[in-house]
Amino acid sequence: MSREPMMNDEQSGSTQRPSVETILTHYGRNPEDQFGFVNTPVYRGSTVLFKTLADIEAQEQRFLYGRAGNPTTESVEAVVTELEGAYRTRLLPSGLSAITVALLSCLKGGDDVLVTDSAYEPGRKFADGFLARMGISVRYYDPRIGAGLAELMRPSTRAVLAESPGSLTFELQDIPALADAAHAGGARLIVDNSWASPLFLQPIKLGADLVVHAGTKMFVGHSDAFAGTISATEEAWPDVEANRAALGFFTSGDDAFLVARGLRTLAIRMKEHNERSVAMAQWLEQQPEVTKVLHPALPSHPDHWLFKRDFTGSGSLFSILLAPAPRASVAAFLDQMRIFTMGYSWGGYESLCLPVKLGKNRTARPWTEEGNLFRLHIGFEGMEDLKADLADAMARYAEAR
Ligand SMILES: *Cc1c(COP(=O)(O)O)cnc(C)c1O
Repeated sequence: MSREPMMNDEQSGSTQRPSVETILTHYGRNPEDQFGFVNTPVYRGSTVLFKTLADIEAQEQRFLYGRAGNPTTESVEAVVTELEGAYRTRLLPSGLSAITVALLSCLKGGDDVLVTDSAYEPGRKFADGFLARMGISVRYYDPRIGAGLAELMRPSTRAVLAESPGSLTFELQDIPALADAAHAGGARLIVDNSWASPLFLQPIKLGADLVVHAGTKMFVGHSDAFAGTISATEEAWPDVEANRAALGFFTSGDDAFLVARGLRTLAIRMKEHNERSVAMAQWLEQQPEVTKVLHPALPSHPDHWLFKRDFTGSGSLFSILLAPAPRASVAAFLDQMRIFTMGYSWGGYESLCLPVKLGKNRTARPWTEEGNLFRLHIGFEGMEDLKADLADAMARYAEAR
């Protein structure tokens, strides 16, 4: 199977690594193979034909059977591999399946896994339910543990799952320190990099072995498709691909096309999301009802030093904590919003606001903040419209108290 990045000017002779903007616009497509059409089209197909007995015995064709991928899925994988500085990447049907396959590629019965207490909740449910049922011990660690992870390592620990910043609560994780502790104990470090995208953080360069993305969010960018990716180092790759193949995960050419299409504009979308989310976070920090803004790009964030050290920009998503108030205030805040809408997921062009309940999802480092937590995704509407919507919502919140 060809793994060369498909880039129309790869014969140019220059050895300079192209910029991320150029990778996003040129990799993963080869118009010469497509009658000159710019984009790799949607390949739909299960059966791939062989001409001779010798061909089917050799198994050397670029594509053997549709479930193992097609040119459209490869067009996404080539781009993400390059952006993450990975050995290879696999496209999966959802972000959650990327997490589950990544974990299964590191673990077997009798092993132990350490999961950040700030992990995306369905991944946590998979660990507590499915992995525990396979006889794997599942333990949670304080997202801010850093080098202290070494003390939690057991001889049976084979995987550490990190997510930086954490879903809902936005703690940053010291990835190089976690990688050192994991590797010293013979475990692999998996990092969920959905928030920053590879434009603003490349965990493999910081020591991670596997990087997962909810491609559904920033890669697709338009709230209209599901996808996930796993990128891995050369050492970790064979286990990823063996487990993906064994479990039968496949992403259709139709969905892959939407991911490839989204990726073409990822750089300009992330630049815009970065500016907007920081500007909105700074504005919210000045509002009287807001007791805390959980955004790692703000100097007030406890992990801001890690943001400055490791990240080159921020994602669209952050949380705000509002002064304690009853449920009626939360309803008054949410139910009459005009621009922000309420729903799961994020990463599209439209702004979202979600009430957050942490409850029993925190075990290693229980959530003790007073007040009501809301997660915001800042989309591409007019900033003044968004601020007016939030200002009115906060006024209703205070009034209903
Ligand atoms: C949404 C999300 C996922 C899961 O992605 P799906 O495509 O919805 O399965 C994983 N990790 C993070 C951080 C997410 O926000």
